[in-house]
Amino acid sequence: MPEHTPATGPAPAPLRAVKGMNDILPPDSARWEWFEETVRALMRRYGYLNIRVPIVEPTPLFVRSLGEVTDIVEKEMYSFIDSMNGDALTLRPEGTAGVVRAAVEHSMLYDGGKRLYYMGPMFRHERPQRGRYRQFHQVGVEALGYAGPDVDAEVILMCRALWRDLGLADVRLELNCLGQAGERRAHRAALVAHLEAHREGLDAEAQRRLHSNPLRILDTKNPAMQPLVETAPKLIDYLGEASLRHFEGVCGALDAAGQAYRVNHRLVRGMDYYALTVFEWTTDRLGAQGTVCGGGRYDGLAELIGGKPAPGIGWGLGIERVLELLQQAGTAPPPPVPDAYAVVPDAAALPVAVQVTEALRGAGVAVLMHAGGGSMKAQFRRADASGARWALVFGGDELGQGLVAVKPLRDAAAAQGTRPLADAAAWAAELLKR
Ligand code: ATP
Ligand code: MG
Repeated sequence: MPEHTPATGPAPAPLRAVKGMNDILPPDSARWEWFEETVRALMRRYGYLNIRVPIVEPTPLFVRSLGEVTDIVEKEMYSFIDSMNGDALTLRPEGTAGVVRAAVEHSMLYDGGKRLYYMGPMFRHERPQRGRYRQFHQVGVEALGYAGPDVDAEVILMCRALWRDLGLADVRLELNCLGQAGERRAHRAALVAHLEAHREGLDAEAQRRLHSNPLRILDTKNPAMQPLVETAPKLIDYLGEASLRHFEGVCGALDAAGQAYRVNHRLVRGMDYYALTVFEWTTDRLGAQGTVCGGGRYDGLAELIGGKPAPGIGWGLGIERVLELLQQAGTAPPPPVPDAYAVVPDAAALPVAVQVTEALRGAGVAVLMHAGGGSMKAQFRRADASGARWALVFGGDELGQGLVAVKPLRDAAAAQGTRPLADAAAWAAELLKR
């Protein structure tokens, strides 16, 4: 039985959203919708199809695919036991693992590669701060079944197109090549030797990761460790012919497309499943949380989660961070306003007002219908506040003559007049003119 609040006694404390999880309210949500529509249009141009996978997945999916010694798996996952059946479940912290699981589960690659994209919430138990939340949102693409490097360049250039569509400048590309497992092993041995030789310079986290995941040490944000990191052996010096050729292929395609990039040898990304190409799009405009998009190639992932080997590459973009950039740039269009506002001073006119406004909406006009009665003056105040360009006044003598009064609210020079109540679709287009 649900718990009931007693009618007497102290008022219950107001309930609040979970810390680090935000409500997205109007008019802000209009910017989200505009962003999402811009993304969908981009995906259509590049031929990427939408995939929707569950928000909850079996915990082992993330443990296996991200690797045990990653920030996400070590300390950021919302994991719980399903009290109904004891299953270990996790709110997805990222999108790639679920998409690849779905591709394997449904044999999506049986007839060739697939280009996919998703949008939705992700969950990580981090310290909430600017640009870092516990529920946040990502757009991501995954190109599955293509070995690259052509498709590597394609997914990277999609990001550039998105920045352009959104009107964002100052987002820069950093690129690296992680090579293959064997090459990373050779580099890792040299790296561990280097770090061991300078053990006194390692912080506690680095000490802990020295043998479990030394590559991640290069990703440290600790300024005291920067000199040690600068002088560490570079992975690129351990790459073989094939990896180097792949990297050159990516760089060549980016050069051909006129996309500038910086090769960052310390760019390793958080997840263990990456191979060859990794990249990030960063900006100086967001303070410490300057990475807006990160991605790379994960050729080993499908096999890791029980499928046939299949190459893959993708990226994930933090929507909150991009929206903050948009707000700074001021390039998003203002929230949409209704075309017309229906003023109904007398409830007796309601049936005819409903017929006319429904006909107008059917013809594509955005009509806000006054609700809750009130004086003509009060209704006009609402009409004005709504931002509508026209007021439709269902009242007075006009109604008796089978007409509705149409009054401009924004443009003083626009003509005021009457229109027939019957056949509203015939004059609907006038209300759409700007
Ligand atoms: P960071 O270094 O900022 O923690 P990350 O490497 O953990 O990022 P990814 O796992 O690559 O991030 O996720 C892709 C993108 O998602 C990031 O570049 C960022 O824009 C966004 N993102 C990641 N974590 C958060 C978060 N907690 N809140 C908001 N956005 C996030
Ligand atoms: Mg992180």
